[in-house]
Amino acid sequence: MTAAKNRILELRAELDQHNYRYHVLDEPSIPDAEYDRLFHELKALEAANPELITSDSPTQRVGSAALSAFTQVRHEVPMLSLGNAFEETDMREFDRRVTEGLDLPVGDLFGGGAAVEYSCEPKLDGLAVSLLYQDGVLVRGATRGDGTTGEDISVNVRTVRNIPLKLHGTGWPATLEVRGEVFMSKAGFERLNASQLEVGGKTFANPRNAAAGSLRQLDSKITANRPLEFCCYGIGQISADIADTHIGNLKQLQVWGMPISHELKLAHGIDECLDYYRDIGERRNGLAYEIDGVVFKVNSIASQRELGFRAREPRWAIAHKFPAMEELTELLDVEFQVGRTGAVTPVARLKPVKVAGVTVANATLHNMDEVARLGLMIGDTVIIRRAGDVIPQVVQVVLERRPDNARPVQIPEQCPVCGSQVERTQLVKRSKGRETVSEGAVYRCVGRLACGAQLKQAIIHFVSRRAMDIEGLGDKSVEQLVDEGLVRSPADLYALKFDDIVDLEGFAEVSSNKLLSAIEDSKKPGLARFIYALGIPDVGEETAKVLARSLGSLERVQQALPHVLTYLPDVGLEVAHEIHSFFEDAHNQQVIEDLLKHDLQIQDQGKLGAEFAASTTLGGFLDKLHIPSVGPGGAQKLADRFGSLEGVFGADWLDMRQALPEKQANSVREFFAVEDNRLLAEAAEKQLRDFGMHWQSEKKVVEGLPLAGQTWVLTGSLELMSRDVAKDKLESLGAKVAGSVSAKTHCVVAGPGAGSKLAKANELGLKVLDEEAFVEFLSKHGILV
Ligand code: NAD
Repeated sequence: MTAAKNRILELRAELDQHNYRYHVLDEPSIPDAEYDRLFHELKALEAANPELITSDSPTQRVGSAALSAFTQVRHEVPMLSLGNAFEETDMREFDRRVTEGLDLPVGDLFGGGAAVEYSCEPKLDGLAVSLLYQDGVLVRGATRGDGTTGEDISVNVRTVRNIPLKLHGTGWPATLEVRGEVFMSKAGFERLNASQLEVGGKTFANPRNAAAGSLRQLDSKITANRPLEFCCYGIGQISADIADTHIGNLKQLQVWGMPISHELKLAHGIDECLDYYRDIGERRNGLAYEIDGVVFKVNSIASQRELGFRAREPRWAIAHKFPAMEELTELLDVEFQVGRTGAVTPVARLKPVKVAGVTVANATLHNMDEVARLGLMIGDTVIIRRAGDVIPQVVQVVLERRPDNARPVQIPEQCPVCGSQVERTQLVKRSKGRETVSEGAVYRCVGRLACGAQLKQAIIHFVSRRAMDIEGLGDKSVEQLVDEGLVRSPADLYALKFDDIVDLEGFAEVSSNKLLSAIEDSKKPGLARFIYALGIPDVGEETAKVLARSLGSLERVQQALPHVLTYLPDVGLEVAHEIHSFFEDAHNQQVIEDLLKHDLQIQDQGKLGAEFAASTTLGGFLDKLHIPSVGPGGAQKLADRFGSLEGVFGADWLDMRQALPEKQANSVREFFAVEDNRLLAEAAEKQLRDFGMHWQSEKKVVEGLPLAGQTWVLTGSLELMSRDVAKDKLESLGAKVAGSVSAKTHCVVAGPGAGSKLAKANELGLKVLDEEAFVEFLSKHGILV
């Protein structure tokens, strides 16, 4: 007896706390399924000990008290809760009570009972709202609160798009209180969470919390921006009856402009109710909004009145619940998986638990930021959510249940598959033309070419048309080659023998020979193609071309420091870091070495690109170091005054002040006082020199070229080569290619269809070449088209 009493008191205290968090704060700490279990335990204990029931027990009350921040509203007709059924037997029991209550014949196992008419509606998972219309005009919106007293949320309710501010048509009762659910669609919820994440705001665990949190805002502007919807399911206070059935009422309300459920149906007898439940259950995942069950109501209003109410629920309605989508379980461990792109993602290993009918033992954690956002530790009790077909997710930690020996989640330093370094991706923020690097959410294994997890994708990319262009090697064949252990790196492709492939699925003698000759033919790739084929993260075809054109050799690309790479057009620090880490990885280096051993001859290698050499000035170099408060102008002044990096380092205060105002001068000195900054600048400068650059004669490389200092213009259509190719060729000879003709233009190449630019060139008496003459000119300089 005392044990029961103690447990009852314990459960009441706990449920009160959960009710407050759920109904008042919109921040439940346990899933509904767990709440329902506690609630049913209390109900069962109270049923066995009826003398212990008190009026303040959660089993006797609805919801929780209204939040004092809102004005309170008294409900003339109480807003009640609903009885719950989880099993078919509970539903049959409900039907029996209804039938008996209405003095109708009750059936037995063989049927024979009266078929009561029930309305069937989905049970939307949002929050109950009362809308009061006076003479057809919306005058008040209120939450349910504790059922008797709710909160006045009129301003917020008015922002919900599908709530009519004025009823349509005529004939409505002078006083009409409409009741229904405010909810958020699944898509709206996803959108809201995504945008909250973007602005660093609070995300919501599920659409219900999102809807409740959005509607009960003190600032209605926030509510207005949230994708809330309303669905009407009943009426409260009315000055005159509308129809004599529940469905009749709803249909009439719809005529007056109220949104009602598209799934509203009439069932004759309990079996049809159960059919409805099964049907909606099967379609649950496909619905645009979340439902946690279906609600059955005795359709006849007269019968409803006859049946009346119990403490917290009507006798004429019941919620038949679906299996919960959220459950509690324990986080046993966090393991790390390496994806096809090298992303290293944490995966939660869970104590197996049934969620919506399926046993869940793993859940995705997305990335380490998500782990941090959840505040997750190994050993924690967590809420798991399985919404439809979506992969189960950990949505919340139940902090109250954290054990003393909980351990933090740590990202491994080495890739669990290949042992390469695991690095955090860099994110670059640009503001006022400056770049600052911060840490990204994703960790990546840098062993792109050698990591088993990434191998298939790396090879598929390597052989693709725009990369090494090895025809006859489709995705399926690559998978087979990898699975059979014949290919462990791209280099292994070049060691394949006829006997290795002829027995593979889909290969015969002819196709095997074809493949071998395609592999052989791919041995002389252009530098850009080869770089692209390596599949460096963030390095697409364009960036590969820029790298090839600017640095001119694989060796320079492999060595280039991030700061040197940022000189290239369109290469930011983020990409520069990716390229650098890729080539620093010993596994990747080995694969490249192995490829070259197979007699791979990379074409188009030679000098540093003219454009690149010309763009590399000391002023630009200093600017790219991003010295605080020193912009491009300041950097150029330093360059003009000191002529070299060494000169800047050696400058005394007076010298520095001659070049720059005090604040900037200070900043330069402080910047270079940090050893890392100095070393970084020195290393980058040294590399540029090793690559053949000299500050003192910045344009030297270009100056050595035949067209150095000349500006050319291309106009009209070229037939033997594209404009881009023509531009590349001219630039490789040291010319600048401009878009418009002026007196400073040296020469205009005019193809057929040339118009105003050609006319202007003639007017100015400039040299003009047609395409044929241009090709001849190029060939004289050793460039063949
Ligand atoms: P309920 O949600 O089970 O059912 C009543 C409510 O259903 C109504 O107020 C209405 O808002 C809604 N509803 C949706 N569609 C409807 C329809 N077609 N017709 C009528 N009503 C419809 O009961 P409740 O008293 O609102 O809340 C109890 C529920 O809240 C429990 O299921 C419990 O799991 C959950 N809860 C959870 C916590 C927690 O900490 N996780 C705390 C308190 C309550």
